[in-house]
Amino acid sequence: MDKIVALCKRRGFIFQSSEIYGGMASVYDYGHYGVLLKSNVKAEWWRSVLQERDDMVALDAAILMHPRTWEASGHLEGFTDPLVQCLGECKKRWREDHLPPGQRTCPECGGELAEARQFNLMFETHVGPVADEGSVVYLRPETAQGVFVNFKNVLQFARKRPPFGIAQVGKAFRNEITTQSFIFRTYEFEQMEIEFFVPPAEADTWHQRWMEDRMGWYTDLGIRADHLQLRPHGVDELSHYSSATSDIEYLFPMGWSELEGIANRGDFDLTQHAKYSGEKMEFVDPGTGDRCVPHVIEPSAGADRATLAFMVDSYDEEEVEGRERVVLRLHPRLAPVKAAVLPLVNKDGQPEKARAIYEELRRRIPAEFDTGGSIGKRYRRQDEIGTPWGVTVDHQTMEDDTVTLRDRDSLEQTRIAAGDLAAELEERLHQPWSSPKLA
Ligand code: ATP
Repeated sequence: MDKIVALCKRRGFIFQSSEIYGGMASVYDYGHYGVLLKSNVKAEWWRSVLQERDDMVALDAAILMHPRTWEASGHLEGFTDPLVQCLGECKKRWREDHLPPGQRTCPECGGELAEARQFNLMFETHVGPVADEGSVVYLRPETAQGVFVNFKNVLQFARKRPPFGIAQVGKAFRNEITTQSFIFRTYEFEQMEIEFFVPPAEADTWHQRWMEDRMGWYTDLGIRADHLQLRPHGVDELSHYSSATSDIEYLFPMGWSELEGIANRGDFDLTQHAKYSGEKMEFVDPGTGDRCVPHVIEPSAGADRATLAFMVDSYDEEEVEGRERVVLRLHPRLAPVKAAVLPLVNKDGQPEKARAIYEELRRRIPAEFDTGGSIGKRYRRQDEIGTPWGVTVDHQTMEDDTVTLRDRDSLEQTRIAAGDLAAELEERLHQPWSSPKLA
């Protein structure tokens, strides 16, 4: 993990928040390549859950919601973690469920641990000029509730019937007791959530199907299958709304940890919102007039955790011609930059020619143009940010308009007509891809 953190800082992917003031723990800012990488992760999620399906619509609900939402959803009462505080020297706080069962002493200083108390994870704030009880609102702790309260709106215009889903990406906030492991667990993060509404009798089948689909998404994008596992929750672990949940876990450097939760929420949410709002939250079959409250399967992924997993899984070090090379072997569609156009030397018209090729290429795919430093140094920089293709302009280019195309993983160099470059790379971007063997 230290290597990933260092790379993120060195290449401007992710920075500690408010660093000039000493930094704020567990809050991070994304720099240029981090923004591009995470936005590609989200784009691939949208592609697979929306563009490549017929049964999904999109939504972007607000972060602030009517406070009754959180009464109905059970979050005010039940969205808590068991907090235990060290009574010894260090006074550190721990999540009881993250400690070995029955542990009564502080893992840090060995002091006695106090009795557990339930701690609500929702961040509270106020709307309007007077901060009294009537003005309390919450920063949403999950994006899901924005979907449920809009269920009727969506049904009206979407011309869909169960099984169908509503997909959403957005920020969520949790006042976590323990924060840890870089961007794995932070106070604010982005979720990519689907609420998939199904006829009650089909809930188990859809739950199973979504587990397979979502596992496939990670492996299609290059995560090694043996670094992923599905872990069903034990009964005592289930959230207040769930009848069954399985986590997709990834083998992070700190061990197997949750990447995505896939829950069967039953009819809990729609029923609760119907009760609290007085609105009917059901599907009425226009043909038969039959009514039902659909059940909900929820694949809930974290965009930041996924970004971290893609970086960890693709990080590689190898020796090439006696020098160490660090390379992010990212799936080309996730790579922040797809191609770097580099003149071999900074003279003989090569920079101008390379610039012209780059300007043509960037209209079709994200590309960079770099003239700074030796060619080896420029390649290494691109390897570290995961750029899959290097395009080099050399003396031959000036004669026959061909360039060399260097593959990040195999280091193979081929010659190709500059005019064919964009079409070739676009084609490669959409071919099935398998993760290259890591060194
Ligand atoms: P954990 O057990 O790790 O606290 P959770 O089971 O509470 O997670 P869910 O409520 O299932 O998490 O949230 C769905 C997804 O949102 C998680 O799988 C994760 O990817 C992401 N997520 C949840 N909390 C955080 C956080 N504090 N920081 C970053 N991502 C998070």
